[in-house]
Amino acid sequence: MRTVNGLHHVTAIAGPAQENLDFYAGVLGMRLVKKSVNQDDPGTYHLFYADAVGHPGSDLTFFPWSQMAPRREGHGLGVEVSLAVPQDSLTFWGRRLERYGVTTDAIETRFGQRVLPLVDPHGLRVALVETEGATRRDFTPWDESPVAVEHQIRGLEGARLWERDLALTTDFLASVLGFRHVTAEHGWHRYEVAGGGSGRYIDVREMRDARRGAWGIGSIHHLAWRVDDEAHQHELRDDIEHAGRRPTPVIDRFWFKSVYFLEPGGVLFELATDGPGFGVDEDLAHLGESLVLPPWLEPHRAAIESMLPPLTQPAPTAAS
Ligand code: ZN
Repeated sequence: MRTVNGLHHVTAIAGPAQENLDFYAGVLGMRLVKKSVNQDDPGTYHLFYADAVGHPGSDLTFFPWSQMAPRREGHGLGVEVSLAVPQDSLTFWGRRLERYGVTTDAIETRFGQRVLPLVDPHGLRVALVETEGATRRDFTPWDESPVAVEHQIRGLEGARLWERDLALTTDFLASVLGFRHVTAEHGWHRYEVAGGGSGRYIDVREMRDARRGAWGIGSIHHLAWRVDDEAHQHELRDDIEHAGRRPTPVIDRFWFKSVYFLEPGGVLFELATDGPGFGVDEDLAHLGESLVLPPWLEPHRAAIESMLPPLTQPAPTAAS
């Protein structure tokens, strides 16, 4: 059985686009590697933040749907995304986040790792996790980041899900996507996939009495899992179909090919190919500088640009 190779990207819903850019590029120091639009709703940006070249597994993306209601926390939803940072960097990060008035919790230990939980400007829960330097992870530092290379975010570490029925989801993770149960702690069950460099972990908690969660500003929209290529994607798509999960046909996202499906607990998952990648339509030196549209939306560029709010260089505001 072939398994997924860890997280490819995580997509979340944000409020106003400029505030999202100010936080992820200006405060967290990630590179905006692609400025595009939601292909199903081209009047909304799709902003991609990653390492310097947008390696699969380094990528956190947002739909800034500022007219949407806040998320409803509950089961069937991703409730936190975690980002890998170097060992011994949380003191730096704690000071930096405080300087910009970011809401954080105290540093805690989860599964033996030091974790700094924070809330982004639009309510998304994010955790910075100190990871061993030994993790095999494709990472290219971004020289123009406001964060020094030795502290920069290395990529995705994992995500947390709330589910109404733990076994429904974890059986699917194990039997179809190839995860194995590692351990449990404080009600969280940690699952790991062997092939992943970035984003190897998914932590699942049963919340039987919670409401059904709902998308909104500050929620995770979907988790995308890496597959090597289209053959790998087709193989896993067949397995998902046989498990009764009704995956979509393959959709061409231009920078990768995608298949979407709901896992049994209701969280939206995606399979995304590693290639061709973000360099397919932009020079790597100028990633994210201009609005990139997939070819089929190019004829509508003027109308699309007129609907999008202008974005300027990130300028985060320091706490007073
Ligand atoms: Zn996606």
